[in-house]
Amino acid sequence: MAHYQGLIHRYRDRLPVSDSTPVVTLNEGNTPLVELQRLPGMLGFDGRILVKFEGLNPTGSFKDRGMTLAVTKALESGARAIICASTGNTSAAAAAYAARAGMTSFVLIPEGKIALGKLAQAMMHGAVVLQIQGNFDDGMRLVQEISADMPVALVNSVNPYRLQGQKTVAFEIVEALGDAPDYHVLPVGNAGNISAHWSGYCESTGHETAACGHCAGQCPYHGHGARATRRPVMLGYQAAGSAPFLRGAPVPQPETVATAIRIGNPMSWSLAWAAVRESGGWFAECTDEEILSTQALLARSEGIFCEPSSATSLAGLIKDLRAGRIKSGSTIVATLTGHGLKDPDTAIAQSQPTHAVAADKGPIAELIARFL
Ligand SMILES: *Cc1c(COP(=O)(O)O)cnc(C)c1O
Repeated sequence: MAHYQGLIHRYRDRLPVSDSTPVVTLNEGNTPLVELQRLPGMLGFDGRILVKFEGLNPTGSFKDRGMTLAVTKALESGARAIICASTGNTSAAAAAYAARAGMTSFVLIPEGKIALGKLAQAMMHGAVVLQIQGNFDDGMRLVQEISADMPVALVNSVNPYRLQGQKTVAFEIVEALGDAPDYHVLPVGNAGNISAHWSGYCESTGHETAACGHCAGQCPYHGHGARATRRPVMLGYQAAGSAPFLRGAPVPQPETVATAIRIGNPMSWSLAWAAVRESGGWFAECTDEEILSTQALLARSEGIFCEPSSATSLAGLIKDLRAGRIKSGSTIVATLTGHGLKDPDTAIAQSQPTHAVAADKGPIAELIARFL
């Protein structure tokens, strides 16, 4: 078999592309599904917990799955430029895929509220970076207005191709496990990803659903390829200061250390509700402290470094396990949406300080002995 060439190539029969579509890819997707070895025991849980490490995509987050298709379709339609609002990762992915396609990218980000790694990516890939004095929701409104008036393609997840690309994560999980898991847990910000996961699982079982990537049950991709016998219960976790799904209404001033989900007015509101309702799942919330301690726990006990927003999936799961809301013996998949290297400041701020020591064997040996 030829080497892996990205998810459009892999799932061509289940995506809206033709043989003449100019595919823009960085070989995204095909990310590892890693079984946690220590955490289930530490939590007294007798089932399996696996993480889908989306931080190992080319730009370090799951946004690449949606961006490969959104930019491919923009290029196919003759667009020369793309635009998005972003909490960081969408801008990194948009900038990289635009560079790959030879297009111009414009990204609107909330001033001072995006993680350093993400800003570095957008700048390095040559995006025109606009830091706005407003939050993500303000940026979202502005890019919708601007893309309606100017020749720039909007690549936020209101673009249906984003969710079509992102649904492939469910196909990979079904293939890896041989069926869908019992539960799927993930962080919820703009709510595109939970909707896309659900649509991928529904297609894998041949179910039709309103959550099927805006297709309203009309898309032709149901029931192709890998088949699952069931669909998981979907659990969506939010940061307490930015939890519109828990409040039942938009949150005007969202705040959380998990900047990727610092979103008060999610675009995929009804699709995400449909995913949770149809699957028999629920939304729940975690504090910033719970998110950060889970991020550290995962890094120290499993060797997996995800960004704070991503740790929300496991932080929420830990609470639901402790509350007895999860059936014993279940297989659970958690999406780890982005890589920990994206946000070095938050990682360093919550870690033990480093040790300043003379470049002499004596004091170094003394220090090491204290830890043995
Ligand atoms: C975008 C993003 C999210 C939120 O995904 P939505 O589709 O907006 O709900 C979560 N974590 C990370 C790391 C992200 O980049």
